[in-house]
Amino acid sequence: MGVPKKRTSRQKRDQRRAHWKATAPNVGTCPNCGEPVLPHRACPKCGQYRGKAVQKGTED
Ligand SMILES: [Zn+2]
Repeated sequence: MGVPKKRTSRQKRDQRRAHWKATAPNVGTCPNCGEPVLPHRACPKCGQYRGKAVQKGTED
């Protein structure tokens, strides 16, 4: 395996990380109640996933 010969300077390290930016989480909307839901997860409000009730939601 390659081993770095020199320690990366603070400038080079920070230049590399300057391109790393936080991105907004990709959220969809529940087709049942319209609440924002994370992908591959049951809706936190109505507890439905792909049109079926899979868990008890907090319907208020
Ligand atoms: Zn829902």
